[in-house]
Amino acid sequence: MLRPFTLDRPSTLGEVADLLTAHPHESVLYAGGTELLLLMKEGLIRPRRLIDVKTVRELDAITAENGTLTIGATVRHRGVERSVLVQERCPLVAGVARHVANVRVRNVGTVGGNLAFADPHSDLATLFLALDGTLHLWSRRGARDVPLADFIRGPYETAREEDEVLTSVRLRPWPAKTASAYLKFGVYERPTLGVAVACEPGALRVTVGCVGPRPQRLFEVEGKATGEPAAVLLARAEELGAAAAREVEAVGDRHGSAEYKRALTGACVKRALQVAAARAQGQQIQARYAHTVIV
Ligand SMILES: Cc1cc2nc3c(=O)[nH]c(=O)nc-3n(C[C@H](O)[C@H](O)[C@H](O)COP(=O)(O)OP(=O)(O)OC[C@H]3O[C@@H](n4cnc5c(N)ncnc54)[C@H](O)[C@@H]3O)c2cc1C
Repeated sequence: MLRPFTLDRPSTLGEVADLLTAHPHESVLYAGGTELLLLMKEGLIRPRRLIDVKTVRELDAITAENGTLTIGATVRHRGVERSVLVQERCPLVAGVARHVANVRVRNVGTVGGNLAFADPHSDLATLFLALDGTLHLWSRRGARDVPLADFIRGPYETAREEDEVLTSVRLRPWPAKTASAYLKFGVYERPTLGVAVACEPGALRVTVGCVGPRPQRLFEVEGKATGEPAAVLLARAEELGAAAAREVEAVGDRHGSAEYKRALTGACVKRALQVAAARAQGQQIQARYAHTVIV
């Protein structure tokens, strides 16, 4: 059951800061509430005041400059999915947004809420790590940019200070001729595993999420195949998948044991590489796997 609370609806970041200062330790930032209200209903947290960041209009924008895509913190998953700008600049991001949760969560859940909550079972964190996501944090003390790799410290733990508002995430330009794939596997509501692969001219990115405490880049796998043409990637997918299984940091939870997740990572990295490499050659792999979505 939800206990009574006060809902503040500021319209500027300055007003958010004033509210946080006026009610320290009592106030929690609130966006879509898909995580927060669950915690409150379970009695895991009992904030007296919620500060609705959705009423701060400037946080609900998607912009592009010199190829860099900036997604405001209160943009909903549905907004990302439907944004023409995102579809044009980085279709993979729009495609992944379409497969987050279910339509009810996508309609209210925000990008900022997803990243700030740092649930390990996040598609966005895995994908944005492959795109060198940088988070913009604002407080009265000043603003700062934090790479996603440093922002997420572990399950439900981030580098955000109590007085900071996450205002946006910036994604690096997506080079022309980038072939990519995002593969998610799951048997529960939230993904058990996510793999992002981007084959760019002269560069390869492979990130894995949901299987460990935080999303990770597989630097060893990348190092083994960076600069390889797509045909070679396709031929070496099995070997690179095995390398991914060795490199990944996996922990057991209700989704499976660490050993299972390492094996799953190997199989999924192999598949994602095959799909991305085939796309780089202008081909499509027609494959369907149970409980798996390939974007
Ligand atoms: C049934 C279900 C299925 C899901 N499946 C998936 C999935 O498949 N893939 C996936 O990636 N995710 C999934 N999720 C997670 C979902 O994406 C998040 O719940 C949602 O994006 C959180 O956003 P919100 O706006 O509702 O956050 P809220 O619940 O409002 O907030 C979450 C946390 O972030 C903080 N916060 C919110 N906004 C800010 C801000 N601007 N600055 C600082 N702190 C802030 C809040 O204080 C709170 O601690 C699922 C969730 C549910 C409930």
